[in-house]
Amino acid sequence: MKQEIIQDFTQAELSKLITPSFRAKQIYHWIYHKYATSFEEMKNLPKELKKTLNENYIIAPLKQVMVQNSKDGSKKYLFELHDGHTVEAVLLLMKNKQYHEDGSVKHQERYTVCISSQVGCKVGCAFCLTAKGGFMRNLTAGEIIEQVRLIKKENAIDANRRVNLVYMGMGEPLDNLKEVVQSVKIFSEEEGMAIARHRQTISTSGLSSKIERLGKMELGINLAISLHAVDDELRQKLMPINKAYNIASIIKAVKNFPINDRKRVMFEYLVIKDVNDDMHSAKKLLSLLDGIKAKVNLIYFNPYGGTEFKRPSDKDMKKFQEYLTSRGLHCTIRESKGLDISAACGQLREQELENK
Ligand code: SF4
Repeated sequence: MKQEIIQDFTQAELSKLITPSFRAKQIYHWIYHKYATSFEEMKNLPKELKKTLNENYIIAPLKQVMVQNSKDGSKKYLFELHDGHTVEAVLLLMKNKQYHEDGSVKHQERYTVCISSQVGCKVGCAFCLTAKGGFMRNLTAGEIIEQVRLIKKENAIDANRRVNLVYMGMGEPLDNLKEVVQSVKIFSEEEGMAIARHRQTISTSGLSSKIERLGKMELGINLAISLHAVDDELRQKLMPINKAYNIASIIKAVKNFPINDRKRVMFEYLVIKDVNDDMHSAKKLLSLLDGIKAKVNLIYFNPYGGTEFKRPSDKDMKKFQEYLTSRGLHCTIRESKGLDISAACGQLREQELENK
């Protein structure tokens, strides 16, 4: 009989599969609060139930095979799936300072986990190493969930500690819509990791029809769009998917997307030297986003061996940013988090494959 991954199920679904149903809550607690990796550890479950669980379910679908530590505290993980494929996830540690009216300064640490949704990817972006390996398969919801659970466990992050999630690792999340949506629901389960929907961001290369579908589901999640170019010709070169979903269709879909009052749609703009770092591009970007509650994230292109693209200068990045912010658009420059650990998606996996 085929065993299923127990993390594939919401608590309500699990309670229909387990008898008696109240045990589902206990199992959830063991998995997501005590980070159990075997059913044997679940001390308050009867022997018979543990036996049934062992026969029907897998609780450890991923195995950590590599971790790289960055000087800035980021960690990049490579996980092996049960069929031998590998995926990456990154733990980012953001350190913030909060200045209070009484003059005190509070240091805050925020965790963000960047997760994969597919093994490989069909989208084929020119700047992406994941794309070069082709597409293998979709991850199940449980395999997506497990990346975060293992990272929390490994870093002894308390179960109640807030973390943010970004579906921005390997794969195009909207190309695996069903499992991604299921994982969003499981992540936000109160008895599970309780990661609020507004702390979850789906980052897409811009599959407009799927953005529309996702919007209609009213999940309360955030949206990020990898735009990277302001005209179709260049975008098509960088992201061939643009042939099917051009910039105008993406902008239209975003305008229809339900956005939390306190949130903005994030537009990722990977800045590449002499390709899209000029003022003409900045001007066009501003006019494209007119009428959208948008935020732009300028990302330094992070060169890797064999690429023709180059990292932009700090001066050009600043100039680009200033142009946008001076005209009222929220715009940040992505800190080069994890620069020394090959943080672009697909790079760690590529290294591992080369070593095999
Ligand atoms: S950048 Fe993302 S969407 Fe594009 S090919 Fe790579 S994994 Fe796929």
